[in-house]
Amino acid sequence: MEFKNEPIRDFSLEKERSSIRKTLDSIPKLFPFQIPISIGTKEKFSEKLLAHKNPWSPELMVTNVSLSKANDLEETIQISKKHWYSWKEQSQEERSRLLLKVAEKLISKKDFILSVCIWETGKQITEAEIEFAEAIDFCRYYAMLALNKLSPQKTILLGEDNIYYYQPKGIVGCITPWNFPMAIFTGMCAGPLVVGNIVITKPAEETSATAYEIAKCFWEVGIPKEVFHFLPGIGSEIGDAIVNHPEVSVINFTGSRDVGLSILRSASIVSPNQSIIKKVICELGGKNAMIVDADADLDVAIQSILPSAFGFQGQKCSALSRLYVHKDCYQRLKERLIDAMDGLLIGSPLDFGNRVGPVIHEESFLRLTKIQKENESFIVGRTRSIPTEGFYISPSLYEPPKDSSMWRSEIFGPLLSMQKISSFSEGIQLVNDSDYALTCGVISRNPKNVMEAKLKIDAGNLYINRGITGAIVNRQPFGGGKLSGTGAKAGGPDYLSLFVEGRTFTENTMRHGFSRDTIQ
Ligand code: NAD
Repeated sequence: MEFKNEPIRDFSLEKERSSIRKTLDSIPKLFPFQIPISIGTKEKFSEKLLAHKNPWSPELMVTNVSLSKANDLEETIQISKKHWYSWKEQSQEERSRLLLKVAEKLISKKDFILSVCIWETGKQITEAEIEFAEAIDFCRYYAMLALNKLSPQKTILLGEDNIYYYQPKGIVGCITPWNFPMAIFTGMCAGPLVVGNIVITKPAEETSATAYEIAKCFWEVGIPKEVFHFLPGIGSEIGDAIVNHPEVSVINFTGSRDVGLSILRSASIVSPNQSIIKKVICELGGKNAMIVDADADLDVAIQSILPSAFGFQGQKCSALSRLYVHKDCYQRLKERLIDAMDGLLIGSPLDFGNRVGPVIHEESFLRLTKIQKENESFIVGRTRSIPTEGFYISPSLYEPPKDSSMWRSEIFGPLLSMQKISSFSEGIQLVNDSDYALTCGVISRNPKNVMEAKLKIDAGNLYINRGITGAIVNRQPFGGGKLSGTGAKAGGPDYLSLFVEGRTFTENTMRHGFSRDTIQ
């Protein structure tokens, strides 16, 4: 079977807009979603629940999340140990078949899941549609990859058979972020599951309803609940418990740098009752840059900068945050960018014409407002018209001094910094002067400079003459180096290898007669 990326709908067409409208508008009737803890076949609600508000109408309580505790984890571990053998002993064909069915199940619930995600996150419809397609792609791609890449290798010699094969690692704790609650959640769970591991997942607090709807699709097609557990709750409680449990073999984490580094530290400690070396996959933040060269096509530059910096309000690990522009086009680009930013339509994602929405919650809103105030004297442009209610942050452009933290810390919001460069090589030097190495863009018509960028820029994903977000499964395996992550490259050919370990059988086949018992 050939892998094909899932197509996306074009919401500039009235028929596509009206087909999802009814579902989107019907969601508030279901508020608040009550999210249970799912331990094997048992579901339960905690006494205390954590509330998540809608980002554009914070008076609406979208989700009440149950809070899993260490004893819930212990129960999942015991159930997992009983069921692991039957799951890992299933044929790869069967597990891949189930994952392909998950893709079909997701598609059958597409408008509903997408709408839940929009109400939880404030994501625009097209952004949500693209993300949903990525979730489908992950299922299909990993299902096929497991069949094609992980089959046993035989080396048969005279008198000796050697078989090299892969075995799942055991219990994988998947701790996921809120900014791609459909794609990243699906991919991070589907990968380890399809190759025969147990998954215990801890979704982000903010997007537990979206994650729960997706988990249901896995169970509904026949992936046993005993091998895929859902433990919502607070990161520093249940997330930390998963990381430190002596029987969790792999931590599959995507999130912030501080949490990721603390997980790496904790997982390196081997407790007295532990007989495994934990593996940690950490996909962390970015401080992503773009160089606009002297001869750049400025139309391409503007079209690339706007969605990269302000799409989903800059809340993407791949978002553009540092812009280095050649002195020959600096002023022209700056003026055009400021004009273009002022034309951005900001408001709730229920109006499909809006290009920028609210940030995820009040905490982010207050953090970003503080950064805006601290950098007020460096601002050169902003989108002026923004709604007064809801967690809206105006997309803003700054020219901060070289020693400003605006150049170094991940902001995770729609705030972009701009600096003049005298040469393309200076741009490359500035791009690489960062702790992060996730995405980067180059807008240039000079083949020599493009080649220099390919050779010298340190980024997991380098994009030339286009935007720097929206990696597509199989076409652009995604993930960074340096402090951006351990280089898992989600949606790429090596991803599943992270959840298996190689084993070798060697058999001496020079027989010295048969034993009577075995031939009868
Ligand atoms: P976060 O680190 O706050 O939370 C991520 C997950 O970790 C959540 O489920 C959270 O509950 C859990 N968690 C929090 N504290 C924990 C602890 N002490 N132990 C165990 N788990 C804990 O990140 P976020 O705000 O959800 O996501 C935004 C961050 O994720 C940004 O930095 C962004 O760049 C990064 N991100 C990276 C990628 C990538 O592929 N590199 C993709 C998406 C997001």
